[in-house]
Order: sequence, then structure tokens, then C-alpha cells
Amino acid sequence: MGAIDRFLKNAVFEPRDITAMSMALDEVCNELKVNGDALAKEIIATRIIELARRGERNPIKLRDHVLAEAKAQTTRQQGFVVESKLANTDARKSNRFLAALDQQDYLRLAAHLRPVALHQGRVLHDNGDPIEHVYFLHSSSVSLVVTMRDGTAIETVMLGRAGVIGWPAAWGGRHCNGRAIVRLPGSATQLAAAEFRAAARESEAIYQLALRYNDFLLAQVQQAVACTTLHQLEARLCRWLMQAHDCTDGNVISVTQELLSQVLGVRRTSVTLVEQALKSAGVIGSRRSRVEILDRSKLEARACECHGSIRNLIDNTFPIAPGEKKQVTASEIRMGISSPRDIHDRGRPVSTTS
Ligand SMILES: [Zn+2]
Repeated sequence: MGAIDRFLKNAVFEPRDITAMSMALDEVCNELKVNGDALAKEIIATRIIELARRGERNPIKLRDHVLAEAKAQTTRQQGFVVESKLANTDARKSNRFLAALDQQDYLRLAAHLRPVALHQGRVLHDNGDPIEHVYFLHSSSVSLVVTMRDGTAIETVMLGRAGVIGWPAAWGGRHCNGRAIVRLPGSATQLAAAEFRAAARESEAIYQLALRYNDFLLAQVQQAVACTTLHQLEARLCRWLMQAHDCTDGNVISVTQELLSQVLGVRRTSVTLVEQALKSAGVIGSRRSRVEILDRSKLEARACECHGSIRNLIDNTFPIAPGEKKQVTASEIRMGISSPRDIHDRGRPVSTTS
């Protein structure tokens, strides 16, 4: 039995190809010194199987290809594995798109995922840019923004832990719509658009989830249009702070009045007045570029219904993959979700093996 056998699952290969893949797996694991690390071995095996499916059956080329990828991702000898682990633990528990994939599809992406830090104000893409990378957001927040000719702009969608940027790459989309700008700094994982495209070609589940995500975004834009048109500024600002709180670790949000006026499309003086009212009521504290959430329940009581509607959209779009044990994030604890069973119960009913 070759080293790769237990990872093959339903894949069918000739015995000589299995031998070649097993040799490559052994050599990569030896080179990276990860023979005792089951998770690292599984990620490497998944990558080798992917390459073999695409036609590469030469053990030396398989080995060299995977080692080159590992070394390209880090200057540290074992960084590939360290980063893969990081992607596996953090990515899995804190991005709803990744959490909705079963283990095999997740590993298909995890082999390529690299952690990246997103700094506030960074533009991930502008309108018409080619889609080069796909980002999965973990503790950061990104706004999709429409900019007018005179430079005024408004947020159409705010993305947090359910966020994916560059998702149209799944069906070969080449260009980005609107501007994606990092509102709240934090962590994300990324992979090349071509790698995401290849994964969606190989896995119907990844392709279908990207389609569902597209529907989710359309629904969120519709909600945003209604919110902007029908709801009062205080309710909208509280809704925005709730969303920001959901994708932040802790209770302090890095946001200025200027930024709030931009995302809500109102004058800064209007934001100042609302902030003062919220401070007087003990809902928030604010100082320079920081807003601290002092009383989440009071904030929720003043927010419009749109926060709850968007949360339901997220739960309906991303049921937890059957059999997966999803870890509960800080934001979900804030939402009153205390166990994976609660997450299942809140979203669309899903079949589970637990
Ligand atoms: Zn609203």
C-alpha cells in the first residue's frame, strides 16, 4: 500500500501512478520534515492528487512542483506547513464560506491559501480591475463601494466573516465590479484567482457555493438600498456598528466620524450628533478614531432590522457542512449562538451526522 492510498478516496488511478504519487508524498514530507504531522501530510497529499488529476504523473515533477509551491509561500523551511495549519485552523473557524465546505473541498483550497494582513484603507480592487486574487475575510471588514464621477462614494455592501472578494473567478469572471476597500483591519486568507477557478471546476460543491454567495450579495445589496432609503440615520449607524462589531475581536472598533459619514453617505456633522446621543445613552464610547461598544443590547435595540435580516441571509447561505464541527466565533457568541447545534438551528435546516 502506497503512502497516498488513504487520501485517494474515490479517485481512480493506475497502480504505477499511485506508486509515483506515494513517492512524491514521501519525499515532500521528508524534505519538509513533517512525517509526524497528519494534517500537513493530508494537505500535501491533496495537492499531489490534484496535480495528478491534471495529468502530471512523474514523481520527480510532482515532488518539485509541490516543494516549489511550499518554498514560494515562505522563506522559512517549514512555513508552508505552519501557514497551512494557520489557514486550516483560523480559516476554517472564522470564515463562513470555508466553514460550509466539506473536508475534501476545504483541503482543495487550503493547499493554496496564504494568510494576509489587511490594513485599513487598502484597496483590494477597483472597478474594472482584473480579478487576480480571491480573499476570504476572517477578522477584517471590507466595503464594496460605488464611486460617482464627482468622487462621492457610498458603501453598497459590508463584508465580514462571511466575506469573499473575487468570487466570480469561480465561473471564469475576469473583472471586478466596484471598489473593494478594507474598512476594519484584520486577517484574511488569499489564493490566486486561477487556483480558485480550478478548484470550482473540479468541485461542483465549491462552484455551487460561489453561486449561492453571488445570490447572497445581491440580496444584501437589496437590503442596503431599502435601509438607505427607509431607515433613519441613528438606526443605520447602529446597524453598521453591529456589523462592524461582529467582525472585530473585542469591543473597540477602529473607525472615524469621517469614515462613518462616507459609508453611510451623510454629512459628518450628522454623524457627530448621532454619536453624541449614543454616548449620552451609554451605548458607545468614542475617542478620536475609535468607537467602543459599551452595551451591545442597547445598540441592538436602536439598530434597524437590517442587521438581523443580513444575519439570516448569512445563515441561510452558509449552512455548516454535514459532519463538520464548526468552532464558534466570538461574534457568534455575541449573537447568542453558544454551540454548533445552535448554528444549525438558526440557519436553514441541514443534515448532519452528529
Ligand atoms: Zn436598515
